[in-house]
Order: sequence, then C-alpha cells, then structure tokens
Amino acid sequence: MLIVPEKEIGGLMTPDAAFDAIQAVFAAMDAGQAYNFPVVREAIGHQDALYGFKGGFDAAGLTLGLKAGGYWPNNATRNLINHQSTVFLFDADTGRVAAAVGGNLLTALRTAAASAVSIKYLAPKGAKVLGMIGAGHQSAFQMRAAARVQRFEKVIGWNPHPEMLTRLADTAAELGLPFEAVELDQLGTEADVIISITSAFSPLLLDGHVKGDTHIAAMGTDTKGKQELDPALVARAKLYTDEIAQSVSIGEFQHAIAAGLIEQDQITRLGAVINGADPGRDGAGLTIFDGTGVGLQDLAVAARVVKIAQEKGIALEVEV
Ligand code: NAD
Repeated sequence: MLIVPEKEIGGLMTPDAAFDAIQAVFAAMDAGQAYNFPVVREAIGHQDALYGFKGGFDAAGLTLGLKAGGYWPNNATRNLINHQSTVFLFDADTGRVAAAVGGNLLTALRTAAASAVSIKYLAPKGAKVLGMIGAGHQSAFQMRAAARVQRFEKVIGWNPHPEMLTRLADTAAELGLPFEAVELDQLGTEADVIISITSAFSPLLLDGHVKGDTHIAAMGTDTKGKQELDPALVARAKLYTDEIAQSVSIGEFQHAIAAGLIEQDQITRLGAVINGADPGRDGAGLTIFDGTGVGLQDLAVAARVVKIAQEKGIALEVEV
C-alpha cells in the first residue's frame, strides 16, 4: 500500500485540484455513480473523544474507502490539533488496501472546495461582497477557496468571539481584499455571498438579517443539534445540499424539517446543478447550500493527492 504522510499534503494538494475533485464527485453522486455509506460517530467515553467513520464508493472514479477519525478536545495539551483523521483507500477490484493518507489538511481543503463549488454555481451574478460568519481554523480555507471562484471586492465578517476576527482580517489581506468587522444585520444586508462556519448550536443569522439576492454556504452544521441559520430564513430559500439524507438528519436543514417549515423534496443535490439537470438560482433571491461533509469528498481529495504523490515519487510504499 501507499502512504502519503500528513506533513506532505500541503506541498502536494492544490486548491484547484481539491475544487476539481469535489466538483466531479458531487456530479457523480447526483448521477447515481457514487454513494455514501451511513455515517458512524460515537462518543467513545475516553478523553471526551468523538470518533467515527465516513465512507463510500465512487464507481465513476473507482474510489472505495473511508475516513476514520474525529475530535479529541484535549489534544492541545499534547501539541496536536483537536480534529484528527486518516483516509484509507481500497482497490475496488480486489478489496486490497491501496493507500493511507493524512486527512487533517485534506478535510479543510475539501470542506472549502465544497462551498466554493456552491458559490461557482449559485452566487448571484456579479457578487462583490463576501460575508464570513466564523473565524476558526476552517474560516481561512473557506475564504481562500471562495476568492478563487468569484472576484470579490471586499470581505466583511462577524464572529461570536470577536478576538478571533484577526484571522479573517489577515486572510483577506493575504488575498489583497479589504476587510471590515460588522454586526450580523449589516453582514446580511451587504453581503452577496455568505459563508457560515462556526460550531453554533442555535441560530446566528436570522431571517430579518438577510436582504437582497444572496447565496449562503452553511458549512458549520455537521452534527445533530448544531445550527447556524434561522429556520425561517431556510424556509424562504431555494435549497441545495451535498447529500440529502445527511442534510435532513445532521445538516443545517434538520431544523426547518423538524419544524415542518420545509419538505425533503424541496432540497436539491448540488450535483444536479453541476450536471445541468437543475437550473440553479434561476431568478431565486436567496439560495442556501447546506454543506454537511460527506465521505466521498474525503475519498475524492485523498485519491487525487495519492495520484500527485505517485507522480512526484513522494508516496511511501509498504507491504501489508
Ligand atoms: P474552530 O474550533 O477552529 O472554530 C470554531 C468557530 O465556531 C469559531 O468561529 C468560534 O468562534 C465559533 N464557536 C465556537 N463555539 C461556538 C458556539 N457555542 N456558538 C457559536 N459559535 C461558536 O473550528 P473549525 O475547525 O473552524 O470548524 C468550524 C465548524 O465547522 C465546526 O463546527 C466543525 O465541526 C465544522 N466543520 C464542518 C465540516 C463540513 O464538511 N461541513 C468540515 C469541517 C468542519
């Protein structure tokens, strides 16, 4: 099997390669060529850790495997980041293990690529202002990926912990964009595209905050109970997601579904827009992409980085 260590990923995987991999796998999911397996996520009762697996099979790219890992809240005391994961790929023809790939940076890149794909297909034409809600580890990756697909002129941002906003200011500066910290009503009024990427468990962005033609990529909610958006805001939007089964159970749309404000059949896979089966925005004022994070995303970027590592002679080969 091949091993691509975590420390090599940054030098191998480009945002463009991540974008292409995610766009292709979303299209394959909608075409019925790729499917995700049920997610396993367990509180293991040790170190307060949440551990689980996300897996799937892409028959178009012959990618089979899983990402194993989770969240260890006490890792800072060990000088490690809290999110830890590894992707394992298997030979779809034989079942033999094919690769083990560090999954930490890949997770950030694939999550950012997902919202960037949604922005490419759903942002209002001529979108100029990017609104960021959230200033944690993922937020910088999100902003960078968004700026690759849309020519923004300004970034505005809000975070429940204002002391973290320097991350957004620094990332905007790196991209050559002006940054302004604002309140949520100003953010919802001015932003053409909004990315939310927090660990919130109650709505931050309210229906009354959002005005005019807007696309929202809701990326933080990936677990039952988490929530970033007002269900009333969700109820008046044209709705997209990566995987409908996850969206209504662990994604942002779980709350509007539970409140009876929307039906599952109002939610469309983003892959349908990529494949041309759905017209996308098509005159809608508000679109929302619920990025829940699927195993096939992890497999897609891992398969891509293994290929790049092989081409560059960096993948380590071991016999299992
Ligand atoms: P982080 O810990 O670095 O940052 C957390 C962010 O959430 C900060 O903006 C913080 O101010 C905010 N926050 C923390 N507690 C909060 C609370 N109780 N209420 C409201 N906001 C709160 O985390 P990160 O790595 O940037 O990840 C952000 C979120 O994205 C996490 O919830 C993570 O699970 C989620 N995530 C989703 C995907 C996906 O595919 N959808 C992938 C990776 C991470």
